Amino acid sequence: MFDHSLECIGTSKLSTKSQRGVDQVVERIARCAQDAVDEADLTFKQVAGVGIGAPGAVDFGSGTVIFAPNLEGWKEIPLKKELEKVLGVPVFVENDCNISALGVYAVELKSKPRSMVGIFVGTGIGGGLIIDGEPYSGAGHTAGEIGHMVLEVNGPKCGCGNKGCFEALASRTAIFQQIKAGIKDGQKTLLTEMLGDDLTDLRSGDLRKAIRRGDKFVDRIIESASEYIGIATANLVNILNPEVVVLGGGVIEALADEMMSVIIETTKDYAMPGTLKGVEIIPSKLGDNAGITGAAVLARKETK
Ligand SMILES: [Zn+2]
Repeated sequence: MFDHSLECIGTSKLSTKSQRGVDQVVERIARCAQDAVDEADLTFKQVAGVGIGAPGAVDFGSGTVIFAPNLEGWKEIPLKKELEKVLGVPVFVENDCNISALGVYAVELKSKPRSMVGIFVGTGIGGGLIIDGEPYSGAGHTAGEIGHMVLEVNGPKCGCGNKGCFEALASRTAIFQQIKAGIKDGQKTLLTEMLGDDLTDLRSGDLRKAIRRGDKFVDRIIESASEYIGIATANLVNILNPEVVVLGGGVIEALADEMMSVIIETTKDYAMPGTLKGVEIIPSKLGDNAGITGAAVLARKETK
């Protein structure tokens, strides 16, 4: 729940539980929105609109989720229509990474550049593009899938079916897999001391703690992930020459001090000479809140 000056005045969080089916997920989203409004001591009558970021391809005009690969059964779901019936206010649906980019752009970039690329490193890797001051979603609303840029033709398998995608090399999922595989091969790490051998509760913040205590193994894996992020950034700079590249998501939020300098150095190594002139590469401070902030920006913009 955000007020008109984009200050967050109430939050609520629920897991989607997508295995229970589409109707249940929609019901849970509605309940979560109602809880957030209640947390802010308001009623839905006082709400101007609801913004939603969905993890997949979205037709913004109709508010339909065309396809969400990580949510079971989500094909051609009229999310806007369904939620408007329940909540009784206008609902606006966009792709989650586009919306995170919008949140960062609106709240963190005071200079309001004409073009921005957002790279969000979390469970997967997503991207959001701002071109000419507006979110860019492409011909079929699928633009910005930078996590599936292939960076290693014979690299590890990706959830999308390809090999060597950016996301299969540098997401939190990929980093955790590399750590677990290394431990299996006999690598020594402070993480097992901190969390036990099976690393059940491993979080990005644990990687930061281990590196700061001198863990060379974790340090090497994070350095390698940072290099891939740098290569991806260089590719995007070569193609789009944006004014600003913003790096966000849970992994960057936890490890910005460890990762940013490697990312920037690698970007310089791989970008075409001259293409980085005037390009700023910065970390986002919003972390996971970029999404909800962007959703509020969208709702405010569309209900004005
Ligand atoms: Zn992929």
